[in-house]
Amino acid sequence: MPYPTARPPAPNGPGNCPRCLADVIWCTTAKNRVPQMINADRDAAGNTAVRVDHLGRYHSRQLTQERPTPEAGENLHKPHIATSPTCFTPRQPRPPAPRDRRVIRPTRWQR
Ligand SMILES: [Zn+2]
Repeated sequence: MPYPTARPPAPNGPGNCPRCLADVIWCTTAKNRVPQMINADRDAAGNTAVRVDHLGRYHSRQLTQERPTPEAGENLHKPHIATSPTCFTPRQPRPPAPRDRRVIRPTRWQR
């Protein structure tokens, strides 16, 4: 194989939370197309509409003011992070690299 394989595809469909092993559905968000864990159980009070497209992929959509209700083929769920905050760790910014002061800036010897 001439090229190394890229990172594996994001999970999509029924699965488990890697932290608490709860039953979740890996969906792709409609807005940013990023993987998102949705609780497997339907929740009438949820704010996320989940649908399965014709290829069997799961998509999630936040309810918005323009589209406040679930539409054809959609079911209401809650995002897993909303109900299990311990499964969410915000991204930690990388600490700034220490400046290396051993380097001597070269000077212009001739002008
Ligand atoms: Zn979890």
